[in-house]
Amino acid sequence: MSSFISEPPRQTPVFGEYDVVVLGGGPAGLLAAASASRLNARVLLVERYGFLGGMGTAAGVSNFCGLYANVHGENRRVVQGLSTELLDRIAALGGLNPPHRILGKVDAQAYDMTAFKCAADQFLDASGVRILFHALACGVVMGEHGRVDSLLVETKSGRYALRARVFIDASGDADLAAWAGVPWDKGDETGSLLYPTLMFKVGNVDAERAQDAWSTIPGLMDDAVRSGEYRFPRRGAIVRPQKHPYEWRVNVTQLANADGSAADGTDAVSLSAGELEGRRQIVDYLAFLKARVPGFENAYVLDIATQLGIRETRRIRGRAVVSADDVLGCADVDDAIGVNGWPLELHVAGDVEWRWPPIPESRGYNQLPLGMIIPEAGCGVRNVLVAGRCASMTHEGQSAARVTGSCFVMGEAAGVAAALAVQAHGDLAEPADIAVEDVQAQLRANEVFLG
Ligand SMILES: Cc1cc2nc3c(=O)[nH]c(=O)nc-3n(C[C@H](O)[C@H](O)[C@H](O)COP(=O)(O)OP(=O)(O)OC[C@H]3O[C@@H](n4cnc5c(N)ncnc54)[C@H](O)[C@@H]3O)c2cc1C
Repeated sequence: MSSFISEPPRQTPVFGEYDVVVLGGGPAGLLAAASASRLNARVLLVERYGFLGGMGTAAGVSNFCGLYANVHGENRRVVQGLSTELLDRIAALGGLNPPHRILGKVDAQAYDMTAFKCAADQFLDASGVRILFHALACGVVMGEHGRVDSLLVETKSGRYALRARVFIDASGDADLAAWAGVPWDKGDETGSLLYPTLMFKVGNVDAERAQDAWSTIPGLMDDAVRSGEYRFPRRGAIVRPQKHPYEWRVNVTQLANADGSAADGTDAVSLSAGELEGRRQIVDYLAFLKARVPGFENAYVLDIATQLGIRETRRIRGRAVVSADDVLGCADVDDAIGVNGWPLELHVAGDVEWRWPPIPESRGYNQLPLGMIIPEAGCGVRNVLVAGRCASMTHEGQSAARVTGSCFVMGEAAGVAAALAVQAHGDLAEPADIAVEDVQAQLRANEVFLG
């Protein structure tokens, strides 16, 4: 029996022609679409779900990291630009907590996911972006001279082609870039990826009794393991109160393949097994919380994320690469588009490893280069930018700059570069040809902190 079938040739309707098509409505795609549209580009954002936010909503993340940096011992907000408006909109819906300190070093901000979804709708609407929800991108059609002509999507009303002058891949998995022929890597030198987590929330927590349980839970887990009654998928857990203190989010599951390697978000079989195993781990962990953690006796699982939380899959090879040394050494670059203030956060087998720039000796952030969102010149793909967790970083560099703050930075810069390229060269737009100074001038006008 043959392993393949041949599909009949088909005519695919063109849904529309745009200046910029953005694939993915996560943190990077949101900012990319808004920033391009505010420079008068005609923008379509394509998203497979019926809501925006990416991992930040679909995977239940509910916490913004990377907005702040520990600058010589003092926490400062270092990611601004258009993301400030998005955060203001979440706050106006009552969905943003004040900053809380992570591991005594750097601030993060918890948010309500429903408020994030609604604020993201408003943000794109106010920016003039058109959205196509429930559209799963499934391929590209290449035109001449290394240009992507169309992105193909499957929808409930059939398959469409979306034409654009510039495409921004903010899919998190570099789907579009990979189909177009941009080279990419996965994992560390052995191919090992950051492990995924299925996030969940528990409700009915007695906040007065729970108090600062986030600091005592890791010790209670160690005690529980020593007692021989419990086993956990990884050491420690991030268990934090949400906007409403009877609701806590839990980041503890860890999903592996049968051989122990990390579940792979670009492999349908691995993803399927991960969802099943994630829910099994959640049932076990709730039993631990109820039995061993004061305040959680009557807790229940309020919500399990729509999908497995994927930290890392493909990372493209770009004109610049963000590495662990850049993050730990607070690197400067000539083509800065903003900064990353988050440390290395490596979700390795059974554990989470943190590595920080020197605190308080260092300024606590590295500049992010424009070259990390532009595919390497040799691949010949001319009208694609790649923003977010699939941009050009090493495995370790990505463990830092994958968080929301840096994805906002990359997305905003990608939108600006795409819109300027369309203004300059229309149908022949090539973002790599736009002068860095012009991108930086527009980012400054958007009040982005370039470092
Ligand atoms: C478990 C977990 C916990 C985390 N905790 C934190 C945290 O506390 N704070 C923090 O700041 N960050 C955290 N992160 C990291 C952060 O959430 C993500 O790295 C960030 O959301 C990446 O943004 P992105 O826009 O690059 O991609 P994503 O958020 O992955 O968004 C990609 C979007 O593209 C869509 N898409 C993908 N492929 C297609 C396709 N083929 N067709 C159509 N649509 C498609 C997806 O549905 C999604 O909406 C966490 C991540 C995980 C997994």
